[in-house]
Amino acid sequence: MEPIITRFAPSPTGFLHLGGARTALFNYLFSRHHGGTFILRIEDTDRTRSTDEYIQDILGALSWLGISWDEGPFYQSERIHLHRELADRLLSENKAYRCYCTPETLEEKRKASLQKKETPRYDGACRDRKDQPDLPFAIRFRTPRTGVTAFTDLIRGQIQFSNSELDDLILVRRDGMPTYNFSVVVDDATMNITHIIRGDDHINNTPRQILLYQALGFRPPLFAHVPMIHGADRTRLSKRHGATAVLEYRNSGYLPEALVNYLVRLGWGHGDQEIFSPDELVQKFELRDVSKSAAVFNPEKLTWLNHQYLMRESSESLLNVLKPFLHSELPTGDREHFLTLLELLKPRAKTLTELAEQARFFFADLIDLEAKAAEKFLKPEIRNPLLNLAARLKDIPGWSEEELDNTVREFAQESGIKLGKLAQPIRLALTGRTESPGLFEIMTVLGKEKSLQRIESVIQKITRE
Ligand code: GLU
Repeated sequence: MEPIITRFAPSPTGFLHLGGARTALFNYLFSRHHGGTFILRIEDTDRTRSTDEYIQDILGALSWLGISWDEGPFYQSERIHLHRELADRLLSENKAYRCYCTPETLEEKRKASLQKKETPRYDGACRDRKDQPDLPFAIRFRTPRTGVTAFTDLIRGQIQFSNSELDDLILVRRDGMPTYNFSVVVDDATMNITHIIRGDDHINNTPRQILLYQALGFRPPLFAHVPMIHGADRTRLSKRHGATAVLEYRNSGYLPEALVNYLVRLGWGHGDQEIFSPDELVQKFELRDVSKSAAVFNPEKLTWLNHQYLMRESSESLLNVLKPFLHSELPTGDREHFLTLLELLKPRAKTLTELAEQARFFFADLIDLEAKAAEKFLKPEIRNPLLNLAARLKDIPGWSEEELDNTVREFAQESGIKLGKLAQPIRLALTGRTESPGLFEIMTVLGKEKSLQRIESVIQKITRE
């Protein structure tokens, strides 16, 4: 079998969105699975809508997701000479022709067709027109008027179009810029792409592209059109359904492995397996397992997966990815304690943002107390017990979980106070919150000095009885 070459060919006219990322991922996995090559080509010929910011976003998002390319990025705008050269070749072979129709004439014809309730289609007025050396022209493809163009889509099966439905498409515009359908064929053919895996919104373009391959004397590649991603309301996924840009997920604390795992499962599956390591994906990904129907984006499931990944991640590597979310430097001596804290918090957080939020108390010198909780738990009658307990804690020789547990329990028993009545104010003092991992675990993570400081500072806030 000849080596497999795939490509991802985004137009940098927007941020990389989930649909684009999934297309890139399928191309990447397919080529890796077969030991092939994956090429990145930026289709930046729409000069008015392409921006460098979007290019950087696409490159950054792919890298963050771990979708690495073997060749490129190539820029379509640097290949325009090649597109023009091949358009000229088609002209000289009479497979294309110069169209002198002005935009105004074309617009009038379009309107007239619409009025007659016909699909607007170029009428071929310039097909047999003599050359007009002084007039500006576009180059149009001489589409065969009869016959059918058929292909076997690797996902959708047999697809065919009558050539009579396709009009004479423009290959090069009057301003000299090649059009998408033409440049994509020239680039894919000259880069020897063997498999085109892309969104099924391109199915209608495929027969036009196949005819161009044939006219240029290239063998068409194989096509696999991936179904769309829908929102819960079954319409095409868009901003209305929430965040669609890949890097928004990075910024809100998702792990790239979780997003990759989620995206690949949108339309692809392997039994009922939900969680796949990157290597497993490469091993198991086959186009034949891609579904024919649209996938529905489910943000809760993505968050669930992210939680699964957070729990599996070692605290060491979580610490690295958590850093940008912490907004605080970790003092060198505190590293071990902080890693222990991450171990405790991991099962409780769904995103890095939540994890950072829950871990914030570790850094804060002044704890912001949740106002409602403070009102509820910091009642005057708890002041003395807390004072006495703090004094007792100060005197214990060590600071292990076991010692703390024993001391606090003993104290509660002696003073006839329920443990819960003491625990919540202390938890609030230490973390500012009413929910946290076990109290004694938190106290050991914070250490004696900080814990006592925080308890004392809360005592100051409680009014005397
Ligand atoms: N630049 C095109 C797009 O972003 C590529 C389509 C294709 O893969 O052929 O839609």
